[in-house]
Amino acid sequence: MSAPRYKRILLKLSGEALMGADAYGINRQTISEIVEEIRSVTDLGVQVGIVIGGGNIFRGVAPAATGMDRAQADYMGMLATVMNSLALQDAMRAAGLVSRVQSALNIEQVVEPYIRGKAIRYLEQGRTVIFAAGTGNPFFTTDTAAALRGAEIGAEIVLKATKVDGIYTADPKKDPSATRFDKISFDEAISRNLAVMDATAFALCRDQQLPINVFSIFKRGALKRVVLGENEGTLVYC
Ligand code: UDP
Repeated sequence: MSAPRYKRILLKLSGEALMGADAYGINRQTISEIVEEIRSVTDLGVQVGIVIGGGNIFRGVAPAATGMDRAQADYMGMLATVMNSLALQDAMRAAGLVSRVQSALNIEQVVEPYIRGKAIRYLEQGRTVIFAAGTGNPFFTTDTAAALRGAEIGAEIVLKATKVDGIYTADPKKDPSATRFDKISFDEAISRNLAVMDATAFALCRDQQLPINVFSIFKRGALKRVVLGENEGTLVYC
């Protein structure tokens, strides 16, 4: 069996990944499939931190929130990520995987608060840690939370799981001639104006020299291939 390239990773799952083919919410079948992808890397002994989005339930900038005070809408978005985190933890439990949820917003009756040292201890004990409520601050995204927690826990890479299998020269849905980058430097991604993550998240990863690998969570075995260091999706390197 090949050895994993990374010992500790930060996996960013968008809320939409949990929807599957549904228009809203959490699809049980889809979440179970994601859990199996996670298992395939925890089985290798890789320590996994997860930041989960909330876009399948509520987004502070989405039309549903139009007209709302932005900060208020963002708090709703953060609460949506807590719901997703609980759903993922439950699906992991049902599949026999142990995880802990830590929240950036204090709701201690539901989940424990984010404490960096405790999170690292859990990871060392082989427990997956799900970081809920983003950064705990409005005007940010869960991409930024992924960069932040990734840097805090000393992850070697941020794995951004999306619906698309990497970063393309143009939107592959609109431009059939678009090609995928196997890898690209932070500087080139900036000069080509490629939207890998939002600007805050991207800048944080670049400053902390934290590489990003964008890949599709719906491609069976892709997460494991990334962790084994195989060419999967697009690697953004320093
Ligand atoms: N959010 C926030 N601060 C954070 C992270 C998230 O205010 O640090 C809110 C924001 O409203 C965002 C929503 O939570 O739209 C859901 O997160 P995101 O849009 O990043 O989820 P994803 O697109 O990954 O599903």
